[in-house]
Amino acid sequence: MKIILIGIQGAGKSTQGNLLSKELGIPYLSTGHIFRALAKEKTKLGRYIKEVMNAGYLIPDRKTMSIVSDYLKRSKYQNGYILDGFPRTIVQAKAFRNGIDKVIYLRVSDKEALWRLSYRNGDDRNDETLMAIRKRIELFHKLTEPVLDFYRAKKALIEVDGERPIGEIYKEILDKINTK
Ligand code: AMP
Repeated sequence: MKIILIGIQGAGKSTQGNLLSKELGIPYLSTGHIFRALAKEKTKLGRYIKEVMNAGYLIPDRKTMSIVSDYLKRSKYQNGYILDGFPRTIVQAKAFRNGIDKVIYLRVSDKEALWRLSYRNGDDRNDETLMAIRKRIELFHKLTEPVLDFYRAKKALIEVDGERPIGEIYKEILDKINTK
């Protein structure tokens, strides 16, 4: 099964993605992780990605699409995956022909996400400044909401209220994956 997770930063995508990965026995990956790993490389590409990420902007579509499609060619993703953070623009969604089964939208308000993120200890995440987070949220509304409409029209979208306890959200996702 190929699952996409969509939601603003702080919506709980990686929490739910990891739970689903264990339950369904398919790997979880996030483009945020991929880009953070690339940003550590001392190459021209690494420095460029770091700069874009730290400002909260998106990596250009063409670069993102080539990096993601290369990743998904790996053998461990051939039987399915849970992908968090991609597609994030309508260009990415339209170009991505990978036989997606379900798209899960974890809906939380901007206020709730900002609240949660202010309590998250950012470990190695120096892209988590308030300014970058606000920019990401702004870009979500502008660029990623059309992606939700795209999958809604294809009847692939599962919309879940993300402002509830983790276990409740998880159960609802599992129910909807199995019935929809
Ligand atoms: P995330 O952890 O998903 O919030 O991603 C962190 C950063 O990685 C974003 O702010 C972007 O700079 C970059 N990124 C992740 N996914 C994408 C994507 N699908 N398209 C463009 N940039 C992305």
